[in-house]
Amino acid sequence: MAKTFIENIAQKLRIIPDLDREHASGNQQPLRKFPSADEWHNFTELDANAWPLRLERNYSLVPTTCFNCESACGLLAYVDKDNGEVAKFEGNPHHPGSRGRNCAKGPATINQIQDTERIMHPLRRTGKRGEGGWEQISWEEALDEIAAKIRSSLKRGGVDKVVYHVGRPGHEGYANRVLKAWGVDGHNSHTNICSAGARTGYSLWQKHDRPSPDHTNAKVILLTSSHLETGHYFNPHAQRILEGMMEGAKLIVIDPRLSNTAAMADHWLPTWPGGETALFLAWAKMIIERGLYDREFMETQVNWDAWMRAVHPNEPCEFERFIELLGEEYAEYTPEFAAAECRIPVEQVIEVGEVVANAGTQLCTHVWRSAAIGNLGGWQVSRSLHFLNVLTGSVGTVGGTSPNSWSKFKPSLFDVPPDPDGWNELHFPPEYTLSHYEMSHILPHLVKDGRGTMDVYFTRVFNPVWTYPDGFSWIEMLENEEAVGCHIALTPTWNETAFFADYVLPMGHASERHDVNSYATSSGKWVAFRQPVLREYARREGREVEFTHEVNPGQVWEEDEFWIELSWRIDDGTMGIREHFMSPYREGEKITVDEYYQYLFERVPGLPEAAEKEGTNALGYMRQHGAFLIEEATYEKHKSEGWPTPSGKQEFYSETMIEFGYPEHSIPHYRQKSHVHPENLSGEDEYCLLPNFRLPQHIHSRSANAKWLVEIAHRNPIWIHPKDARKLGVAEGDLLKIETEIGWFVDKVWVTEGIKPGVVGCSHHIGRWRRKQDRGNRFLTNTVVIEDQGNGKMRMKTVSGVEPWKSDDPDTNRIWWRDGGVHQNITHAVQPDPISGAHCWLQKVRLSRPGPGEDYGDIEVDREKSFEYYKRWNEWAKNRETHPRGERRPLWMKRPLAPRKEHFYMPGFGPDSTGPDVVSQTDEGE
Ligand code: SF4
Repeated sequence: MAKTFIENIAQKLRIIPDLDREHASGNQQPLRKFPSADEWHNFTELDANAWPLRLERNYSLVPTTCFNCESACGLLAYVDKDNGEVAKFEGNPHHPGSRGRNCAKGPATINQIQDTERIMHPLRRTGKRGEGGWEQISWEEALDEIAAKIRSSLKRGGVDKVVYHVGRPGHEGYANRVLKAWGVDGHNSHTNICSAGARTGYSLWQKHDRPSPDHTNAKVILLTSSHLETGHYFNPHAQRILEGMMEGAKLIVIDPRLSNTAAMADHWLPTWPGGETALFLAWAKMIIERGLYDREFMETQVNWDAWMRAVHPNEPCEFERFIELLGEEYAEYTPEFAAAECRIPVEQVIEVGEVVANAGTQLCTHVWRSAAIGNLGGWQVSRSLHFLNVLTGSVGTVGGTSPNSWSKFKPSLFDVPPDPDGWNELHFPPEYTLSHYEMSHILPHLVKDGRGTMDVYFTRVFNPVWTYPDGFSWIEMLENEEAVGCHIALTPTWNETAFFADYVLPMGHASERHDVNSYATSSGKWVAFRQPVLREYARREGREVEFTHEVNPGQVWEEDEFWIELSWRIDDGTMGIREHFMSPYREGEKITVDEYYQYLFERVPGLPEAAEKEGTNALGYMRQHGAFLIEEATYEKHKSEGWPTPSGKQEFYSETMIEFGYPEHSIPHYRQKSHVHPENLSGEDEYCLLPNFRLPQHIHSRSANAKWLVEIAHRNPIWIHPKDARKLGVAEGDLLKIETEIGWFVDKVWVTEGIKPGVVGCSHHIGRWRRKQDRGNRFLTNTVVIEDQGNGKMRMKTVSGVEPWKSDDPDTNRIWWRDGGVHQNITHAVQPDPISGAHCWLQKVRLSRPGPGEDYGDIEVDREKSFEYYKRWNEWAKNRETHPRGERRPLWMKRPLAPRKEHFYMPGFGPDSTGPDVVSQTDEGE
């Protein structure tokens, strides 16, 4: 097409690119995507911001990994050699998981490190805890004071009084090793508000508790999602889903909400939350009836014979008979039944069922948070979903779904301290016999119930006051100095939990810290290196650095070096802690962080050899490339490794469930209806609130300081279907009062057909707040006042929304948005699933117009009601508490930071020498 007169002039003035270049012949230059690695310390490019001036900038490109979700995609930091500062982040093409690409949150790391309100120095509180007074202290003071508190606690003999509670993990066994060196059963995680439900379902089948879908090679991609692929493994999965679709794969998305992914799907099934299990079992029935199961896989890899012997002892133990009886067992799951449970058309159940049933070994399934964490009995969702993979023989295949542990590198560490000598009942209370991870979301209630206290409590990149349900109970616990002797918040940015700390210690963002990462983002196995980029830049420039805080902004540090220094100071020479922090290379001397990673990378299969080819060592290779592909593909490992379950097979039939008091769940079934099942709602007046999805631009609670991300997304209105809006008489922008079991919040309405009628949605990650005396995150925080109204009633009122302010960054004064959303989670009651222990996120709610004095953003919660409500759910677990042979939990299932085997038994019981070994789970919870 011919250029216009205006385009001609604009092109000559270089206001727009050369439109002729694309069509030029002869001297045409291909577009360059990335500089080659040997140019990375001396790369020159034009400054895009200086356009139309042709201003050259010279960079050192240093790889690291993104810290903004679990995936740990590769980043390349562009360090400007003129000023020694990071100018921008792009993708690292050498990273096998992300392959040079990122989502919006990756490049926005630059916002986080340039945040004018970030915490630059260690802080100690002044005044009462939670009042908001702080003074700057040195790292020396912080280390000495905290070390003294831990030493005192350890010397009193408690093994459960010093606790490390992790929000964003990602350093593969580092903290567990430290806790073991201190001798404490002190690991807590965020997993039971996240993935514990899905993990339980997968674990019952194969012990491996996470799925690794091979989207690229799939014929059918089946996602059960209200969160997945727009928040979790977002970029690595999204790019592979697209690759699969470009090769003809069909995409099926099950979600009551029209997510971005659902909008791209061939089939969107807006199921009623919790009905997914019925749907998957109906599809299982279709596969069985039509003979589309993979006989070879079923017959050789599944413990079908155990079920035959136990349940049908008078039948011949033959596979053909098993299949006939299986058909009878699942006869109740008709398409009509599934359609009724899911409230979708029966034709859709059958049509999509045909697609799934005919996928064969290329059925690629995935569920992470979503329905598995939303519902009472949500763990059944992953169990029944995996059943489809088992039936079609698509477990561990090309285009199928593999156990994640096949694709995850487990590091060998330089020293392994002994397992802790005790059991922490605040983390694993005896009634939650099958909880897959720590019961972290009921911690404040367990403390209130008199089950224990903590001397020293670290929150590590963790913000439960805001992220968890029932945040006012967290505030109550944190303000109680009898319950929590000392609270230390390790965080890169201010958050609502840090407001209630004694020490706030600034930790690095992605480019300011060391971690090692390995995740099952594809069918291969890789390891990546998160490194402090200015430290590596200094090394390239020939400068010595002892501690990372010497090169980071202000006195921002990193956990790795912090733990070494802290551990060293805890030990007064009598405690045997220092011996676990000695250099493996220099006898009798303290280990350095470089030595830690040198030791680890020297033991990555194939890495030393690859490094040698480049004339460097393993650490040098990782500093240069940032990642290494260990295995191209990890299919069919069961053929060499088997299945690590009690039967050595995929467990269709679980004796564990019977032994631990849940015989109705011995095989996959739909025996537990969700707490938000229509039968459990009071007719049309109650709705199901879907609160556990997030928008792709945000992180749970660390993106409020990322101005680019906040400008794109800063509100969390209530999604409501037009039919429901009509019924309630509300229109777009009107206010609604949403009443939960323990309180209410007021939000604005967004009328959309992208949500199922009867369900309302509210996205997580927005609705951040601070009080007048608090600091940080002003791009996305409302200023609030919190009033204690007595009798446990707490009220939060928004005083003002987001406002511009003057700072060194002119953009802070250009903020045009005022609405910072609403903090919904704080009004949610805790709902611990009695089996998986997972918090069941979905809430039963009533909707009405707000009354006088109830304004946008207002919140009220009754803490007494919340405690009573917790007790009701807790009773369900207590009523079924069963400990076969005195076992606290199944010995063969994973447990993070496993203590010595004898502590896996209730008092009065002990290990049986014939029982399996207990296995510590080294991959931290997500
Ligand atoms: S998906 Fe996005 S946020 Fe997550 S690691 Fe990759 S770039 Fe970062």
